[in-house]
Amino acid sequence: MPQKVLIIEDDRASMQLMRELITKAKLKPICAYSLIEAKHIFSSSEPEEFLCAVVDYELPDAPIGQAVDFALSSFLPTVVVTRYLDNERRLAILKRDVVDYITKENTQVYEYLSRLLTRLEKNKKIGVLVVDAIRGRRAAMVSLLRRHNFITFEAPDSEQALEIMQRFSIIKLILVDDEGLPNMNAIEMLSQLRHNFKKEDLAVIGLSSSRNSALSARYIKSGANDYLLKPYHNEEFYCRILQNVEYMENIELIRRAADSDFLTGLPNRRYFFEKVSVSQNHKPLLQSLAIIDVDHFKNINDSYGHDCGDYTLKEIAKLVAEHFADFTAARFGGEEFCVYFSNVEQVEVNKVLEDFRLSLATKNYQFEKNNFSCSVSIGVSHQAKSDINNMIRSADQLLYQAKNNGRNQVVSD
Ligand code: GH3
Ligand code: MG
Ligand code: MG
Repeated sequence: MPQKVLIIEDDRASMQLMRELITKAKLKPICAYSLIEAKHIFSSSEPEEFLCAVVDYELPDAPIGQAVDFALSSFLPTVVVTRYLDNERRLAILKRDVVDYITKENTQVYEYLSRLLTRLEKNKKIGVLVVDAIRGRRAAMVSLLRRHNFITFEAPDSEQALEIMQRFSIIKLILVDDEGLPNMNAIEMLSQLRHNFKKEDLAVIGLSSSRNSALSARYIKSGANDYLLKPYHNEEFYCRILQNVEYMENIELIRRAADSDFLTGLPNRRYFFEKVSVSQNHKPLLQSLAIIDVDHFKNINDSYGHDCGDYTLKEIAKLVAEHFADFTAARFGGEEFCVYFSNVEQVEVNKVLEDFRLSLATKNYQFEKNNFSCSVSIGVSHQAKSDINNMIRSADQLLYQAKNNGRNQVVSD
């Protein structure tokens, strides 16, 4: 069920715009045109169902931010919308524990709101560890982080921080303040962390004060992603956090793009070899490798066109993903797919492949006005200790036999 976003806004045009962008973000807008209406709606719903509130600073029944206060006192992460923003109002808004504010100046702003909402939703799955010897400083950071929906963890020293990192893989970001850390300092902790966590998988931001400016550089040289100078403004704090979280997400996107096949979305050949080599490091007792080749695929292209060929490959890829979800499968190139099985009994491997062959051959394919069927031939080699290239060679020979024997079959050694 989509999460709800409570909008409190009296202007109908703005309300309509926000309602649309919230729906587009796959969230459910709940609209209140006044503070009274918002209170009524909120009192009859489950608070946990709401991701956040987007609240107009100025409403007929709440002229000076009372609706913002209501949302905050209901423990909703709150984004403030305001028609104009002079310095006085900006300060009045920032004095409250809001997520952020936007001004209704142009449509660009609504785009920003849409990004912010997506962010708030993604943050719910991101853990942040705050390492600081001083309880009050930890609490201040934790409160800022919670406002943005992050899952927070705290450690008063480096040893406990390292221990927490071993237990919670959800943590993607560490904020560490070296000032006053007992025993192990932040730089030593960083060097230990970097044995197990790469910069792309775990961002570390070191806090330093202007009195100790050399520390900022030391953080970076010792493997931190970024630093933050104290005292910081809340807006600055959030910008740094978001920048670093987005950096990791972008790396992840690039990684995923590099590992997958553009047409079908399946893992590609490069990723396949990488995955198999990791499996082989564990010295499996049993290994099997299957090569799957579409029968007379050229005919599909020739009869119904290249687009239909692409459609067929995508349909086949879906079946590959479904049937071999527990194993390593990839598009090997053209109309060939490859599956690697580690520590699976031969009879089981043959059965999984036979099931796949059959469900593919009995499926009806439909593209534009064309109805057709399709089949695959499969060669599968079971060799306990062989290297991957030998296995591919054997599987290829068995595939050749399957083709010669009349196609639409599995041949195993
Ligand atoms: P066989 O049963 O012997 O395997 O016959 P086949 O026609 O499947 O084999 P062949 O190797 O002669 O032809 C494979 C065809 O697959 C040729 C190539 O144009 C087509 N093909 C390869 N990659 C793609 C693709 O990404 N999209 C489309 N539409 N066709 C592709
Ligand atoms: Mg082929
Ligand atoms: Mg073929």
